Amino acid sequence: MKITEVRTRVVQWEGQTVPLPPHFCTNPMDLVAFREASMGNFAFHGWVLVEIFTDSGHIGLGNAALSPIVTKTLIDTYLKPLLIGADPWDTEYLWQQMYRRTMAFGRKGVAMTAISAVDIALWDLRCRRANLPLYKLAGGAQRSVALYTTEGGWLHMDTAVLVEDAVAAKERGFGGSKLKVGRRPHEDVVRIAAVREAVGYDFEIFTDANQAFTVDEALRRARLYEPLDIGWFEEPLPADDVDGHVRLSNATTIPVAVGESIYSASHFREYLQRRACSIIQVDVARIGGITPWLKVAHMAECFNIAVAPHFLMELHASLCAAVPNAHWVEYIPQLDPITTQAMKIEGGRAVPSDEPGIGIA
Ligand SMILES: [Mg+2]
Repeated sequence: MKITEVRTRVVQWEGQTVPLPPHFCTNPMDLVAFREASMGNFAFHGWVLVEIFTDSGHIGLGNAALSPIVTKTLIDTYLKPLLIGADPWDTEYLWQQMYRRTMAFGRKGVAMTAISAVDIALWDLRCRRANLPLYKLAGGAQRSVALYTTEGGWLHMDTAVLVEDAVAAKERGFGGSKLKVGRRPHEDVVRIAAVREAVGYDFEIFTDANQAFTVDEALRRARLYEPLDIGWFEEPLPADDVDGHVRLSNATTIPVAVGESIYSASHFREYLQRRACSIIQVDVARIGGITPWLKVAHMAECFNIAVAPHFLMELHASLCAAVPNAHWVEYIPQLDPITTQAMKIEGGRAVPSDEPGIGIA
């Protein structure tokens, strides 16, 4: 099998959009201008799609969501020439080619997003050629994985709405919900406590700060959140502050979760080796695709650490089914407008697709 063509396109939302409220969630901007410009620099209104065509007639589909226009240009300019004529079975070889040829300006961010989209398409091709679903080719046993929701829980919402959303999620059979934190410390506590009181203790509450805090601020908050039995404290600090994560992890009983802003297996290795976190949220559309996603998940397994991937639930449901240490899939139905294959949910749990391919059409 040889690759004959690589096509990219950007699917951009062109309907009405509502400006994000100022305190939608915390973000790294909060460190320089506290509680301003929240999410103003970042929104999911576009996707880049990659289609890889072969001489056997099989087509592989990949996708990624960050900065789609820049990502498309990067694929067209730097990755496509490496792929034409190559054998799509050679996923490890092709990944190394893409990584090493973009190393001078890549390794993280948009370059890794571009490699992710291509690698996902290559795996889709492998699955289609083998006539197998992804969980099979990744080594799995088609087990379902617990879901938690990130549909509500945003920072600008009133406490009553947070409670209503969490109760609804519990009633739908989901195992937990995520709340953004970053209001005044005691406001956060009141909001989390109201949700905890409404859902009881057999439902997880996760918190997410989107890298907004300094170490001291995160330590203070962790102390306040601890009595509320929080499932994890997600991205409490900027992702590059590994020392800060070590300090926080040593000081709190709340599991520290990181991963959506980590773009390499070696950066994860540093977190794991230094015990800087307790949950790995590796994102297949940012880490460089399925090839490194599996490496990171298995590396975390060696450290007895759980995987709860960030976003892209359709694909992560299949990958989670294939590794022993995956505990949660994040329910965000973001792909619904552009896919014809809804993720299967049974009893509030994600069921991996049984169709040949990655489970996204
Ligand atoms: Mg997050």
